[in-house]
Amino acid sequence: MTALPLVFDAPKRGLPPRHLADLSTEERRAAVTELGEKPFRANQLSNHYFGRLTADPAAMTDIPAASRTQLADALLPPLLTVVRHVSCDDDATRKTLWRAHDGTLVESVLMRYPDRTTLCVSSQAGCGMACPFCATGQGGLMRNLSTAEIVDQVRTAAAAMRDGELGEPGRLSNIVFMGMGEPLANYKRVVAAVRRITEPAPSGLGISQRSVTVSTVGLAPAIRKLADEKMQVRLAVSLHTPDDELRDTLVPVNTRWSVDEVLEAARYYADTSGRRVSIEYALIRDVNDQPWRADLLAKRLRKHLSQLVHVNVIPLNPTPGSKWDASPKPVEREFVRRVNEGGVACTVRDTRGQEIAAACGQLAAEG
Ligand code: SF4
Repeated sequence: MTALPLVFDAPKRGLPPRHLADLSTEERRAAVTELGEKPFRANQLSNHYFGRLTADPAAMTDIPAASRTQLADALLPPLLTVVRHVSCDDDATRKTLWRAHDGTLVESVLMRYPDRTTLCVSSQAGCGMACPFCATGQGGLMRNLSTAEIVDQVRTAAAAMRDGELGEPGRLSNIVFMGMGEPLANYKRVVAAVRRITEPAPSGLGISQRSVTVSTVGLAPAIRKLADEKMQVRLAVSLHTPDDELRDTLVPVNTRWSVDEVLEAARYYADTSGRRVSIEYALIRDVNDQPWRADLLAKRLRKHLSQLVHVNVIPLNPTPGSKWDASPKPVEREFVRRVNEGGVACTVRDTRGQEIAAACGQLAAEG
């Protein structure tokens, strides 16, 4: 059995200085007042950052130059610098590798579809969950990202869409917390980031809560806590297999919270939020793709979640040099057919970005 290198509370070391996007509306006013400025300057700053999507003090001409410098120095420290962008799918997918103030590398992926544009954000640098098939999991956890480091990934993507960096100008509509890291292991900052992302401008970025998905490998108590936040975000549980024996090795945190415990917590989330839970299932050749596992998956999901669930099968994006591979298409089709036949809605997730190493952690791992 895999040892559990689980780190739920990463050291605060390396977190960037305080930023406007770390703060609630009231905290922003207090911070501005502490600097000897009028409280309404907090609204002006927020308007620029969340409303106009700029962090450049030179663009904030409604604020006197002296105040601008002081406010920007104190509340808009540079957070993430682009190391490089890599595009594919005819430029409809763009992955960005960022460098944080302490040299930490993180990544986000912007995906443009005909009816929506989705950003996949990272919530931690690295990950402590040690899933053996995942590039990020191999490097361990470097540190949590701050709330503002998460929000800033979204702000820059929203600006890129507005400015037509991925074709025709458009709007960033959906956010998925499926990049590097286990979002619920950085709970407080992730929840604050969701609030910033979804509060209407100028308090936040004005994206609908219903268009935000928070994924987890199954930290059951944190799932229940998230339900009690009474937000409308979608929950996605990375289950990857319905049986504890295999899940103990595929998702080592399973030795702490079993499949039953995770699915009961997911049920609580579905009941509290009124939203269907997504079950993520990375289909891995000869590992978790057997017909009997499809049947067992449908059975267990029906028992715990009834109709309040949808399964996304994800063809595994193999990491270079890894023994893990995607299942052949006929095996995948049969798996999906059986889950549907078992009374649970199941589809194959469109996989974007294969040729640019867009599985979580691959770009950062390449450096
Ligand atoms: S699959 Fe997700 S939870 Fe598991 S190690 Fe990778 S990033 Fe972490």
